[in-house]
Amino acid sequence: MLTAMWQRLDRDPPVFFEDQLAPALGAARERVFALGLLRPTAPSGFAPCRECGTGYVGRVEWLTSARTGARDAYIPCPACGPVRIDPDALRQWRIDLGAVLGAVRAAGRIHGPVTEVVPGHAWHLGSANWARRRREAYFVRCVYDGTRARIAAALATHPRAVLLFPTEGAAHAWGRATENPVVALNSVAALGPEGITFDTERVEGHVVDSAAEPVRKKAPPKRASRVEKISRLTAEVIEFLRRARSHAFATLRLSKEPALLPRPTKAQLGRSVELSKPEVTRCFNDPDARELNLYWDMAADLDAVMAFQGPISAGPSE
Ligand SMILES: [Zn+2]
Repeated sequence: MLTAMWQRLDRDPPVFFEDQLAPALGAARERVFALGLLRPTAPSGFAPCRECGTGYVGRVEWLTSARTGARDAYIPCPACGPVRIDPDALRQWRIDLGAVLGAVRAAGRIHGPVTEVVPGHAWHLGSANWARRRREAYFVRCVYDGTRARIAAALATHPRAVLLFPTEGAAHAWGRATENPVVALNSVAALGPEGITFDTERVEGHVVDSAAEPVRKKAPPKRASRVEKISRLTAEVIEFLRRARSHAFATLRLSKEPALLPRPTKAQLGRSVELSKPEVTRCFNDPDARELNLYWDMAADLDAVMAFQGPISAGPSE
């Protein structure tokens, strides 16, 4: 329900036009307001032309009518000429980042002071007890080429901290920039009747438990076979993402509206690589299934599917 909000939070500035709120948030809109996650902000100085399909966005000009003395807003559309704009359409709402992070911290039981470590991009949210350990949590947004290195440097002393990104796409794009476990808020935080909810189990599934590492190095047969099963499942989900991406672009060309190919169930996924349902569940819960979980979450997100560029790690070729 909050997908549109997480997507917007990964862009600058994180604002919605008034008329985007209903399509973006639907029935969640009233609760989002009640929680103070959106605040009114200055009206936009730009507006899109709604008369033509050119996608033109123009600077708003205020003209006073010589006849009535009223002030009206116009944009100079190259295709349509001056187009009158409803001033209400210029109203904007900004995501209140402090309120969003406060709600996420409360729901995820993340404690301690919040520190902005890379202005506008990375915040230390405090620490939480996940997978039987105290872990630092960071929120990271709007990562561009110029900021990636600064964020990675700020995290260098916290290789086990959990990084929370707004969307699966953003978490995927970060990929292996650092060794930190990455989690998309769009997959773990939702809007419940009481406010923001937080799927702690899911976060723990993403967290690589450092205690498991010596076991992995010894690689007993059982462990090795689990790793092999995870890689079979991962390859299958990647294959699905490729198909889903082609499907989205094909439907976009045909109907101007991209469609999301329905994701298979985990049981169906297991059948296609000859794994039983309990085996699939064990694989998804395994600390080594970080990429598998990430791709699985992406497969349910149209934006992430369309942005999918192929697997993050090359890995051993098969
Ligand atoms: Zn126009």
